[in-house]
Amino acid sequence: MTLDIYNVLIGIISAAVFQFVIFAVHIRDYKKEKFLLIWLLGTGFVIAGFFSSFLARNEDIQAYVIMVHNLLLILGQGLYYISLKKYFKPKDMIKNYRLDLGLVIFFLTIFSVFSQNITIRMISNSLVLLLFSLFSLRLLNQNRSEDIRRGSNLFIISNWINIVFWTYRILAVYFVLPKFPRLYEMIIVMSYLSSLMLCVLGSLGLIFLINQRLTSMLEKEKLKFMTIIETSPDSVVVTNLSDGKIVIANNNFMKKMQYSMEELLDETTVSIKIWKDQCSRDNFLNAIKNSENIEKYEDYLYAKDGSKFLGCISANKMSIDGEEYIISIIRDVTKVRETEKKLLESERKYKELAEQLKLEKEIAEKNSLTDGLTGLANRRYLEDRIFYEFARMKRTWMELSIIMIDVDYFKLYNDTYGHMQGDECLKIVANELNNSVKRATDLVARYGGEEFVVLLPNTGKEEAHMMATSMKKNIEDLKITHELSDVSSYVTVSVGVATFNRDTKLPCNMLIQQADEALYLAKDYGRNQVVAANL
Ligand code: GH3
Ligand code: MG
Ligand code: MG
Repeated sequence: MTLDIYNVLIGIISAAVFQFVIFAVHIRDYKKEKFLLIWLLGTGFVIAGFFSSFLARNEDIQAYVIMVHNLLLILGQGLYYISLKKYFKPKDMIKNYRLDLGLVIFFLTIFSVFSQNITIRMISNSLVLLLFSLFSLRLLNQNRSEDIRRGSNLFIISNWINIVFWTYRILAVYFVLPKFPRLYEMIIVMSYLSSLMLCVLGSLGLIFLINQRLTSMLEKEKLKFMTIIETSPDSVVVTNLSDGKIVIANNNFMKKMQYSMEELLDETTVSIKIWKDQCSRDNFLNAIKNSENIEKYEDYLYAKDGSKFLGCISANKMSIDGEEYIISIIRDVTKVRETEKKLLESERKYKELAEQLKLEKEIAEKNSLTDGLTGLANRRYLEDRIFYEFARMKRTWMELSIIMIDVDYFKLYNDTYGHMQGDECLKIVANELNNSVKRATDLVARYGGEEFVVLLPNTGKEEAHMMATSMKKNIEDLKITHELSDVSSYVTVSVGVATFNRDTKLPCNMLIQQADEALYLAKDYGRNQVVAANL
């Protein structure tokens, strides 16, 4: 097979079509990359251009075919250049375009105006293509960066080959062709070869550019991720969900666990014994498997030297390339929990102490003879006195009376005005009762709650009844407002009176009960009244 135009053409077209197919297949993966689409379009034009050459066999239309062929090639190369520009996105893109386009249009105009003149046609056509190569070279030089070095280099080489070739062609057309017109075919073949070179090397360069940019983007993403996990004040580790293998760990994790990166990589959290046992790791796994993420999972974790700490783990599942990983952020909460425990302990001790104090206060109160709130005698003292007065009554002919007083609807009073106000009310009532007795031997005591007992030695039934009635009246006259009371708008009391003499069969400890029963009747009859026990 000889190296004639058509054989070369077939070779070029096959290469270009092959390239076109490869890019077309991949275009789906790079949907966002417009430059690839433009490159594909450029290849389409170049293929069409080469195809058109076959028509040049027909001598009648040869001149026009060559023109169309050249135009298509120029358009193809132009699109390659635009595609490169889209890839690099130079800042002053519009300004650059104006200049580039101006130059190209200028030579294209010459090319079309003088298209019948083979020399000018070939020279201007070469010039346009030379310009594209120069523009591309400038673009590549302006945007050379380390991460896309290999791709850029291939482009630069292919452009230099073109520049050399187009310059050679211009010179050959201008100086050699007029003298040796038979060389025309060879020059054409060489121009085709150059196009092929640009096509193949350019495409290779493009593939490298795309891959290198993707790799560098991935690297940058990885760097970003690493920076984020390194900035975390906590320990961070990424493990493979299926086998627990450690993929990445930050410095804090390595420091805390006392392992180097080499010791960690490809090991599992179980094999380097971070967990107490396989069961602990399984529990953690189950927790995370059941939900997308877990927060504040706590368990003991072990460092290389066997020392343990309480780790609070927040973990998230993430999926990369179909593989599932767990990213765990671990915080040592041993001290926090210890402090919490101590705090709880001291709180418990404080409560115990307060409880103890309360108990002691109650005991002290019980042991004392007066009531803390009202200052009256308390029940204990009252019972002692009753015992004493009962004995005295038994020895003499004197009578003994007991009055029991209970505030009416006092629970309601508390509910209406509050417990504090209730206390105040009790104090006033107590004070009033205390003022109502005149004899030194009379005793007013707080029996409990809102109940009072007045012990009247040497007091007969009538006198006791009178005293009880006046006490009841005096209290109502205090006019302590009690709006919700059923019997009055003021605080009232119900009173039970019981009087005894030496003939009584009752034991000493049953006396109060008699007054209480009378009081019960007073309540029953409608409150705010005095009832005397029938003894
Ligand atoms: P009744 O007319 O039947 O006597 O009705 P009451 O609401 O007065 O009787 P009850 O026995 O149902 O309620 C007594 C209330 O007295 C309940 C309690 O809250 C209150 N109380 C007992 N001791 C004190 C105290 O020391 N201070 C105060 N503020 N309230 C007390
Ligand atoms: Mg009561
Ligand atoms: Mg009451």
